[in-house]
Amino acid sequence: MSNDDESWLRVKARLRAEVGDDVFSSWFARMDLEQLADGVVRLSVPTRFLKSWIQSHYAERVLACWQAEQDQVGRIELIVRSAVLKTTVQPKPKAELMAASDGARGFGNGVNASVGRPMSAGDPGVHEALGGSPLDARLTFDSFVVGRSNTLAQAAARQVAAARRGDPVMFNPLYIHAGVGLGKTHLLQAITWAGNAGGERKVLYLTAEKFMYGFVSALRTQTALAFKEALRGIGVLVIDDLQFLQGKSTQAEFCHTLNALIDAGRQVVIASDRPPSELESLDDRVRSRLAGGLVVEMGTLGEELRFEILKARVVSARSHHPSFDVPLPVLAYIAKTVTHNGRDLEGALNRLLAHNKLTGQSVTLEMAEREVRDLIRPQEPKRVKIEDIQRIVARQYNVSRSDLLSSRRTANVVRPRQVAMYLAKTLTLRSLPEIGRRFGGRDHTTVLHAVRKIEGLVGNDMALAEEIEILKRQLQE
Ligand code: ADP
Ligand code: MG
Repeated sequence: MSNDDESWLRVKARLRAEVGDDVFSSWFARMDLEQLADGVVRLSVPTRFLKSWIQSHYAERVLACWQAEQDQVGRIELIVRSAVLKTTVQPKPKAELMAASDGARGFGNGVNASVGRPMSAGDPGVHEALGGSPLDARLTFDSFVVGRSNTLAQAAARQVAAARRGDPVMFNPLYIHAGVGLGKTHLLQAITWAGNAGGERKVLYLTAEKFMYGFVSALRTQTALAFKEALRGIGVLVIDDLQFLQGKSTQAEFCHTLNALIDAGRQVVIASDRPPSELESLDDRVRSRLAGGLVVEMGTLGEELRFEILKARVVSARSHHPSFDVPLPVLAYIAKTVTHNGRDLEGALNRLLAHNKLTGQSVTLEMAEREVRDLIRPQEPKRVKIEDIQRIVARQYNVSRSDLLSSRRTANVVRPRQVAMYLAKTLTLRSLPEIGRRFGGRDHTTVLHAVRKIEGLVGNDMALAEEIEILKRQLQE
């Protein structure tokens, strides 16, 4: 046995003593010494996931153990022994509706963790432990109405749900973003229902919150083996409302999970209220990984789509309440006036249903007008884009968009530019630095100055105030 090999044995013994038998056998048992040269220790592990996990959780400890043996060691290098993924030997998981259980007690109650019991997909412990968020039985593909704003997202979701174990993964992750009430959760749950009904691949649906407090805490107390076993059982991981994912360590674990699943050819589906580029608290690598699949935006529900959704809703309500009838003109009225989102549409119909049930009166236009009054928000702000602001302001003042972004300081450009920045601040949720960047890389103080300037002027200058009102109206149409 060479000197280095002997050192490696002693390093392993040190590590084992430091981290304990369970952790050691989970993470380090299959770690081999490849080479020790020029102060660099090269160690190999069998999977990329193991590598990234060890790198982020144990790199310093491993280095310290080496340095205790050989003080000329300056650096540890981890490599993956074989890039070939042995997907064929994985057990086929039973069709199981994980998300139907809401018992995310976490499998790390200390007992499992300390015995390091491997979890298999058929183990009810995994089912409970990885327990998905509750599913709403109504949120299926059948009840999802397709229109202009969601055609692509729906097609991608269907594709994902229909894919079978072993099929090439077309877009990974599938990332769907849209404002509140535009059908993200509906689509994600539809994928979950459909995927699990097929029984080929287990689909686990988690809200970001459940991911943080159930899944991640379970991971933390689990052994590596159990974690990998658990992940192996998941064919598709669905995470809803990713914007709520918070905390550095949660994000690190999210990153590991994401990488582990994607590298193993498992599908990941994500919904959020914003595109990956605007998940400001996530680090760049995660963001670019998220953006590397298919990113689809669902737009606001158009009037036609709202009308179709309402019709479908009435049909399904009638299966429980056969006497409930809503004349089409009433539906058209609601579709036209309740512009907000899918949730308000549902709320409007629920009120009509309640009124109808409680009073026995049939639904009329007058009743609808009375009942849904507070859901009507004619001047509901729509999501305004900075590009649109620049385009419309440029058109209004007869300058070019590149003039607005340029560093030119002539009066005919400065004012429109200030107006555009002011509108960007008041009509969007963008921060000052972000607005600065979008206006030719200006400093946030420049933007602030512009906003204050225009705010000051509109108080006295009626003509300017009116101009701005007109611009706002155009942008919010
Ligand atoms: P989000 O998760 O994007 O906030 P949800 O998926 O919860 O929105 O949708 C809100 C409500 O609107 C739900 O009741 C949902 O069923 C309904 N809804 C949204 N889009 C559609 C659609 N295209 N077809 C049918 N119902 C829809
Ligand atoms: Mg939702």
